[in-house]
Amino acid sequence: MIERTLSIIKPDAVARGLIGEILKRCEAAGLKIVAAKLLHLSAEQAGAFYAVHKERPFFASLTEYMCSGPILVSVLEGEAAISKNREIMGATDPAKAAPGTIRRDWGKDVEKNAVHGSDAPQTAQWEIVFFFKPDEIHSR
Ligand code: UDP
Ligand code: MG
Repeated sequence: MIERTLSIIKPDAVARGLIGEILKRCEAAGLKIVAAKLLHLSAEQAGAFYAVHKERPFFASLTEYMCSGPILVSVLEGEAAISKNREIMGATDPAKAAPGTIRRDWGKDVEKNAVHGSDAPQTAQWEIVFFFKPDEIHSR
C-alpha cells in the first residue's frame, strides 16, 4: 500500500551537512520526497511535537536539542513508506542500529540520532498535518 510518512533530519545532522546524504538514502530506498522545508522550531513547537514523550526523563533534553538549530522536515511517499523509512533509519540508539542504516552511520548517541520517522499510520497522519498544509504536498 502506498503510504506517507514524516521524516525529520535533526539539528546535529543538518549542522554537519548531511541533508544530501540522508535524502539520497531515502530516494535510493524508493521513497519519493513529496514535501520538504527547513525550519527552526521554537521550544513550544518541539514540546508539542514530542508531547507523547512529555512524562519521559529525556523530554526536556530532547526538546531543547530539537530547537538547537534548523531541521529539515519532509514527507516521504511510497510502498510501505512508514516501515521502509524506519528500516533505513535503524534503531533509536545508533550503537544498536544495524550496519548501513542512517543512525548507525551518522547518529551520535541515543538522543542526537540524526533522524526522526513516524512509527505508524495514525502518527504519520498527525505528524504530517503538524508541519504541512495539504497544498504543500506534491505527489508525483
Ligand atoms: N530519546 C532519547 N533518549 C531515549 C530514547 C529516546 O533522547 O532514551 C530521543 C531520541 O532522539 C528519539 C526520540 O527521543 O529519536 C523519540 O523517542 P522514540 O522512542 O519515539 O524513538 P524513535 O521513534 O525516534 O526511534
Ligand atoms: Mg518515535
